[in-house]
Amino acid sequence: MTHTEKAYAKINLTLDVTAKRADGYHELRTLMQTVSLCDTLTVTRTEGGYTLDTGGVLDAGESNLVTRAMRCYFEASQKPFGVAVRLEKNIPMQAGLGGGSADAAAMLRALNALDGNRFPTDELCRMAARIGADVPFCVVGGTCLCSGIGEVIEPLTGDFHAYVVVAMRGEGVSTPAAFAALDARYGGFGACREEATANESALRFAMRVGELSGLVPLLYNRFESVIEPIRPDVAALKQSLLASGALHAQMSGSGPAVFGLFATEREAMRAQDALRELGATAFACETV
Ligand code: C5P
Repeated sequence: MTHTEKAYAKINLTLDVTAKRADGYHELRTLMQTVSLCDTLTVTRTEGGYTLDTGGVLDAGESNLVTRAMRCYFEASQKPFGVAVRLEKNIPMQAGLGGGSADAAAMLRALNALDGNRFPTDELCRMAARIGADVPFCVVGGTCLCSGIGEVIEPLTGDFHAYVVVAMRGEGVSTPAAFAALDARYGGFGACREEATANESALRFAMRVGELSGLVPLLYNRFESVIEPIRPDVAALKQSLLASGALHAQMSGSGPAVFGLFATEREAMRAQDALRELGATAFACETV
């Protein structure tokens, strides 16, 4: 029995950090959105054992989030079975696109499907939260307002749809290092910052109505303030996206990937091609 799952990349339409917890994790508020750029996970139920084939593009050991997802799943079910996993990687890594989290979430969904849908989604989300802060969102996907350390998710329904170009240049960014840079810049987030939550009702309204023009003024990413000064490629890519007709361009997560929002598929394709001509990695995709 084989099950195939798409592991969609995410972009952060908004992202603010509001506080630092005693355990070192940060409280945040973020509007996350899955896009059609994806890795593909093919999971086959076998007689026994566990194999993970990544085609050599990333470590397939215990640290791989797919393997961690497998361990979490069987710990919860207490009924392990053999699995052979093939991971086809397309999402750039250490990019702020949640690729590893998406793979882990896809693994939880695949194992659940091969296991007769033993667990409801909220149980999968609980397992997901033990793997990483972004993983519960990746189990659910779509458009969600996320809080806590990212694991408290409120799915938003509505007519929002956009064509998206995701682009990146150069080295990845380490997420812990990006959070440490924010700590240095904002004095460890001693005081809770309220402005982050102020426009969430406007965000909910904009997503329901689905008008890109109403949404764009509400979008921001706090990490830009610490990543852009050390990564000139981020501002340059945003400029290129805007020059190609993007209605908005912004960094995703802790970077360095950026995304542009477009009203039409044709404009998105043209922007993708223009960025590739400039030597950047670029993918035209759409919200899912
Ligand atoms: O949860 P995940 O493993 O994806 O997080 C990676 C690192 O990012 C954490 O070890 C932590 O340093 C930082 N992080 C954080 N606050 C969050 C999410 C992640 O400080 N809400």
